[in-house]
Amino acid sequence: MQKLLIVIPCYNEEEVLPSTIERMDGLLRKITEAKMAASSSRLLFIDDGSTDKTWQILQKTCKQNPLCEALRLSRNFGHQGAILAGMYANDADLYVTIDADLQDDPECIIEMLQKIHNGAEIVYGIRKERSSDTWFKRVSAQLFYRLMLLLGVKIIYNHADFRMMTRRVVEELKKFPERNLFLRAVVPLVGFRSDNVYYNRTPRTAGTTKYPLKKMLAFAWNGISSFSIVPLRLVTFTGFLISLLGACFVLKIFLNYNAHGAVSGWASTVTLITLFSGVQMVSLGIIGEYIAKIFVEVKQRPLYIVDEKIAFPAHQAKTERKREQNKKQ
Ligand code: UDP
Ligand code: MG
Repeated sequence: MQKLLIVIPCYNEEEVLPSTIERMDGLLRKITEAKMAASSSRLLFIDDGSTDKTWQILQKTCKQNPLCEALRLSRNFGHQGAILAGMYANDADLYVTIDADLQDDPECIIEMLQKIHNGAEIVYGIRKERSSDTWFKRVSAQLFYRLMLLLGVKIIYNHADFRMMTRRVVEELKKFPERNLFLRAVVPLVGFRSDNVYYNRTPRTAGTTKYPLKKMLAFAWNGISSFSIVPLRLVTFTGFLISLLGACFVLKIFLNYNAHGAVSGWASTVTLITLFSGVQMVSLGIIGEYIAKIFVEVKQRPLYIVDEKIAFPAHQAKTERKREQNKKQ
């Protein structure tokens, strides 16, 4: 039977963690009892440099619950880094990643397991509708997915970071050395057979979003600039159009030579200079963004640093198992 690892990134999630732990623990027990995954399956919580009581809650949980393990990163590395730390630093046959606020339906994990048993290597969780999100979040997210598709990035519409992968996929994923990591666009690049499960996204039960507008925009731009060179092509294309326009102006001036006084063209000249200086600045900025990306890639800094890992003590686990066996007999 296959060992399942449920990776849950947590950043300042003290309000929501107790209920998440209870719900996920119940689900994992259900899965292992139904023999859908091995009894060695675990919940792995990643504390992504939280400043609240997240780590204390996790420490306490891991001491009491043999199914829970926790990993603490040395500082805040961001959602993507936390997910990778969980998957890369631990051994399992199947990996599933899910947000700590359980906005994505955990019950789907059972359906995902079935799809894996039917031969899929990756199962994507896809949001059917997002009426629970705010109007702004919904519209901006939808705009983002459409823009990514338009720019030629193979992204799965309405899929975020709720997915199940086999060990094989995770091993292949490790070969992608990118520092600008945007998992939802990288995973489809791995290939293999994939399948989808659909669910309704529910509101956060407690706590607040860890993705305020500024962070969300940065995340979206990172996604676009890491996977698409279309913005650079647009710069070239705009430059070409402007040059053509310039040529038309030259032609016009040539034809109208001496028709007007010298001062009459002043306004249009200044307008054009300002306009095209602006276009040039924006173009340089976009090119600069890509150079900055190369700069970050070249440095090859680690995507995460693990500070500490805790799990239920092994000797206690043995007695716990014996106790459970005795209970059953
Ligand atoms: N998260 C993280 N590091 C961060 C920000 C967020 O590990 O720097 C985690 C967070 O604890 C949650 C998940 O990523 O489990 C998604 O964050 P959130 O629910 O706040 O995002 P939203 O659903 O609002 O987009
Ligand atoms: Mg959320």
